[in-house]
Amino acid sequence: MSHPEQSRHLTTVIPGPESQALTNRRAAAVARGVGTTMPVYAARAGGGIVEDVDGNRLIDLGSGIAVTTIGNSSARVVEAVRSQVAEFTHTCFMVTPYEGYVAVAEALNRLTPVRGEKRSALFNSGSEAVENAVKIARSYTHKPAVVAFDHAYHGRTNLTMALTAKVMPYKHGFGPFAPEVYRAPLSYPFRDAEFGKELATDGELAAERAITVMDKQIGADNLAAVIIEPIQGEGGFIVPAEGFLPALLDWCRANNVVFIADEVQTGFARTGAMFACEHEGIDPDLIVTAKGIAGGLPLSAVTGRAEIMDSPHVSGLGGTYGGNPVACAAALATIETIESDGLVARAQHIGQLMKDRLGRLQAEDDRIGDVRGRGAMIAVELVKPGSTEPDAELTKALCAAAHSAGVIVLSCGTYGNVLRFLPPLSISDELLLEGLDVIELVLRDL
Ligand SMILES: *Cc1c(COP(=O)(O)O)cnc(C)c1O
Repeated sequence: MSHPEQSRHLTTVIPGPESQALTNRRAAAVARGVGTTMPVYAARAGGGIVEDVDGNRLIDLGSGIAVTTIGNSSARVVEAVRSQVAEFTHTCFMVTPYEGYVAVAEALNRLTPVRGEKRSALFNSGSEAVENAVKIARSYTHKPAVVAFDHAYHGRTNLTMALTAKVMPYKHGFGPFAPEVYRAPLSYPFRDAEFGKELATDGELAAERAITVMDKQIGADNLAAVIIEPIQGEGGFIVPAEGFLPALLDWCRANNVVFIADEVQTGFARTGAMFACEHEGIDPDLIVTAKGIAGGLPLSAVTGRAEIMDSPHVSGLGGTYGGNPVACAAALATIETIESDGLVARAQHIGQLMKDRLGRLQAEDDRIGDVRGRGAMIAVELVKPGSTEPDAELTKALCAAAHSAGVIVLSCGTYGNVLRFLPPLSISDELLLEGLDVIELVLRDL
């Protein structure tokens, strides 16, 4: 099947009658708790377009939450999945293993910015991989506690809900949560500026604030791991001040605390580097990956220093579907696509384009408090004019208006006031700029 025509085109109001009919069926069949950003039902997708069941073609600035980085139904992935499905769909790597799993582990070991000899283990979702990273860190250090940061998002399973910061919608009513999870203050330059210019620009100072919490409230002797997103995703695309991550890593190294980088959202070329840790020049002990890893198929991984990864006993790690052969074939095709199509450079180009464009918009609109991010992971933080007070209503209205105009865009942030852009790297410059034109127009109207 070929990609839908690469242009924005509305044949009905959004949502159209076919989508509306599916929404009605869904209400009687699907649990209410599963939310939806935009109630249009997809029929086909590819390049930079999602076509819905009414024939509307929408510009995709979300990539299914940073998953289809190389595009939807990308040619190599389609081919790899087809041929793997025809060979075998599942044997279980814990029963009779297969080459694809080993090849994905080799690729991860080659690509990740972890130093020295490495090992990988494969799972299904980002949350599951985060849980396993914590298990591995506890097994290695024989210590119980884990530190996560303000605004963090690490998933929705019980342990990862505890690691995630935001109560609504992720945690409300779902406790009790896993014990021995503690929270430390992040470096959040836009908001730290309220406490002084130095804290906003000096990452080492912001790290000191976090390290004091770890020292005084937990104690390194009780702490197995520090887990952090090098650029926060759901938390609002927060890029910490320079020096913050290296200072945290140094402290972890000096205290036998495993440093886990959660690159579930930032990994695989998204930020204009294969992994976001590379921008900071850091080499984490463990890196967690998922989302962009397999062109839309469910796969996740933990990769790390061999001595840490090999700490759990034989059969201590695993799962029925972890490293499914079809998902592994998709991952190998995805990695090949990123490398041979120069998609790291493409993400940098997209980042420059978005930052220039949104920066110009910020200069003439004081409701845009901050433009930040890296590569194809850029966000604007919306505020009450000229202040730092979050404006969640404006963000909601802006998203709704963009959706009605045929642009898929997502919001995020602890205060619900961050508009985030995660275009697939397969989008054309023209479609991307048209999407941003729409954002500009609807923002003017609000
Ligand atoms: C999405 C996400 C997760 C959870 O991944 P799932 O596949 O949804 O379980 C964990 N960490 C980060 C940084 C994420 O963005």
